[in-house]
Amino acid sequence: MITRFAPSPTGLLHLGHAFSALTAWDAAQAAGGQFLLRIEDIDRPRCRDEYEAAIYDDLRWLGLDWPTPVMRQSDRMGAYAVALDRLAALGVTYPCGCTRGDIKATLSAPQEGAPLQGPDGLIYPGTCRGRTMADRHPGDAIRLNMARAMEITGPLSFHDTGATQTLTAPEMIDSIGDIVLARKDIGTSYHLSVVVDDAAQNITDVIRGKDLAPATPIHVLLQRLLDLPVPTFHHHRLIRDEAGKRLAKRDDARAIRTYRDSGESPADIRHMVGL
Ligand code: GLU
Repeated sequence: MITRFAPSPTGLLHLGHAFSALTAWDAAQAAGGQFLLRIEDIDRPRCRDEYEAAIYDDLRWLGLDWPTPVMRQSDRMGAYAVALDRLAALGVTYPCGCTRGDIKATLSAPQEGAPLQGPDGLIYPGTCRGRTMADRHPGDAIRLNMARAMEITGPLSFHDTGATQTLTAPEMIDSIGDIVLARKDIGTSYHLSVVVDDAAQNITDVIRGKDLAPATPIHVLLQRLLDLPVPTFHHHRLIRDEAGKRLAKRDDARAIRTYRDSGESPADIRHMVGL
């Protein structure tokens, strides 16, 4: 088993991250496998060096270690560009210049029903679907043509948290649609980078929070299109605050750092998250 913890250095790690990292770590230990760390920093303006340093420090304090050098997504833009070219060669991509406002306006036109939400927000209405990659402008994002992609792969099957999931083309089109593969500002996306890197790191088991379960069919689809191995997925419960809300990065009160500073031990943290 090879698993990973893949935080973004956009804030201090909190109890939810501690739970996720420890869950992945414990699973690797129990299986005699390997735990890897990956820094997901494609969104450079939101990332800070001191948060990356705090990730290493807090995880070491929790008792975790990992092979170095650590993979950093900002070093991997070339690999994402190659994957995007492969998808373009399959004919499953198109450029899109729509803003969020354009998409909202199209979806609120009187003939449309209530706009549907996918894993990345509003499901794209397909305005630019007829455009070709040859007519890509500098400010365009690149989208996945979901219907074409599903024609190539057929129904998707994968193992998620002890069950086998199967998704058909109509389900993928209706619930996910033409998601962005490459944002206009960074030339990649969370989905594309995570899939390329999980394969590059030979990840056999993706262990992460339930909040990312809706993105999993997209990842499996990209793995199938790119001929990459499909790992086993495990989506664990989320750590919530007293009001039942999922913890957010800005919630410094529950930062691992805050507990450290007030004298709690790694064992206390394990206890707090129910491990
Ligand atoms: N980087 C993502 C996050 O911070 C996690 C990616 C993943 O586990 O697939 O939420």
